[in-house]
Amino acid sequence: MFDRTKACGIIQCLCCGHILTSRHVHDFMSCNCENGAFVDGGYDYMRCGAKELNDIRVLVEAPQLAPKKIISPLEDDISYIMLDDHMGDDLAIVDAARKSLGRAAEDEFTDKDKKLLKYLWTGGGTGLRHTSPFEMVEFKFAVKLPIFVIRQWHRHRTWSYNEISRRYTSQNVQFYREINTWRKQSEDNKQASDGLMDRDIQLKWQTKQEDNIGDVLRTYHEAINDGMSREQAREFLPFNLYTEMVAKVDLHNLLGFLRLRDHDHAQKEIRLYAKAIIELIRPIVPETMKLFEDDEN
Ligand SMILES: Cc1cc2nc3c(=O)[nH]c(=O)nc-3n(C[C@H](O)[C@H](O)[C@H](O)COP(=O)(O)OP(=O)(O)OC[C@H]3O[C@@H](n4cnc5c(N)ncnc54)[C@H](O)[C@@H]3O)c2cc1C
Ligand SMILES: [Zn+2]
Repeated sequence: MFDRTKACGIIQCLCCGHILTSRHVHDFMSCNCENGAFVDGGYDYMRCGAKELNDIRVLVEAPQLAPKKIISPLEDDISYIMLDDHMGDDLAIVDAARKSLGRAAEDEFTDKDKKLLKYLWTGGGTGLRHTSPFEMVEFKFAVKLPIFVIRQWHRHRTWSYNEISRRYTSQNVQFYREINTWRKQSEDNKQASDGLMDRDIQLKWQTKQEDNIGDVLRTYHEAINDGMSREQAREFLPFNLYTEMVAKVDLHNLLGFLRLRDHDHAQKEIRLYAKAIIELIRPIVPETMKLFEDDEN
């Protein structure tokens, strides 16, 4: 008999057949196929998902949260972003605005609401855009990303963050790798890249990166094995180290983030996360995203 009090999440990816077991809270297990099935949460809770939710089977249900869509923005099956939780939708925005008129909330988003939403967004020819109704919608994302990406992301002060601490754990030390993706320095933009480096030189730097990761891992684990504190051993870890965070933001400030980070001046990697965010939130605020994208294009 399976002891329910000790159930940990086990799922099967129906695309590759892989069975995935999460044994403790941060034991994030994922398959390597295109479906990107994953399970997390160990004995405490169960979080699972995949690109195609129909293509996973839950074998053992730990206390379960609804399956979530996950995207690997850097397409390496290590990076991920998923919408962990959210509050409100397009209707919540117009309902909040109706509050100023003392009107009650509606049950359904109608064509009239669409007009009101557009009025709030544009300011209806006055140029005075309404922003606070868009703060009524909130999103919480779970993200795994390289240090060089989180460093740019954390400049956005209107988000709330909690990040995994390398003072607590020396487990799951993983790195982002460039696979034929090394870019040349741009000549006209000092902080940007421009096009790929030549193919033969790609391989040279791929090998150097792999050697570097090997050296870094050996040194890090040697320091830990010698009894060095985790908070200092991390001094040996480089920028392409993966880290994890939960990050919460309201829609108004998220759109500000997307304007800056889904922009061709932003670094490619954070831009891929911004694009993944758009894909994750579009089903929740489709009408707002239409207005946003009309503005951007
Ligand atoms: C392409 C690009 C290149 C960049 N290059 C660099 C660089 O070389 N060096 C560098 O240091 N940074 C750089 N940045 C970071 C940039 O300067 C901003 O810090 C970052 O984009 C966050 O923007 P923000 O302050 O608008 O966002 P948030 O912090 O999310 O703030 C959103 C808005 O809230 C308001 N706000 C939030 N906090 C305050 C506050 N304390 N006081 C007043 N108003 C506040 C402001 O109106 C702000 O626009 C770059 C960003 C981009 C997109
Ligand atoms: Zn799979």
